Amino acid sequence: MNSECIFCKIIAKQVPSTIIDETDDLLVIKDIYPKASIHYLIIPKKHISNVRDFSKDDRAMAGDMILMAQKLSQEIPDPKAFRLIMNNGPEAGQCVFHAHMHFLAGHRLPGF
Ligand code: 5GP
Ligand code: ZN
Repeated sequence: MNSECIFCKIIAKQVPSTIIDETDDLLVIKDIYPKASIHYLIIPKKHISNVRDFSKDDRAMAGDMILMAQKLSQEIPDPKAFRLIMNNGPEAGQCVFHAHMHFLAGHRLPGF
């Protein structure tokens, strides 16, 4: 837990969020500023700033993020098409420095 980190606070339930799914290692929430009609964030509960800091110990968790995306894709309306995005570093658009995967489906919202 990083006391400065908004996602750590969400994981600790100190900050509210709309929870879609939860496992021992992952939390899935709705993005507060959605860029598509379905926009979830798949967040490891462990504080890691981004993929550059993943280690071999994180292999199972990283694989579980993909399998969670697959599970979410089975729960959305047809067409069961979706995008997965991970921004790594500010130059790539990362704003929250706790690793997360964007799950985007449905139609794009105006402005995006
Ligand atoms: P990044 O740009 O770091 O890849 O994505 C961070 C995402 O987190 C953004 O899409 C932003 O809307 C979302 N976000 C930032 N703060 C909060 C928050 O407090 N709650 C939720 N649910 N999403 C947040
Ligand atoms: Zn964190």
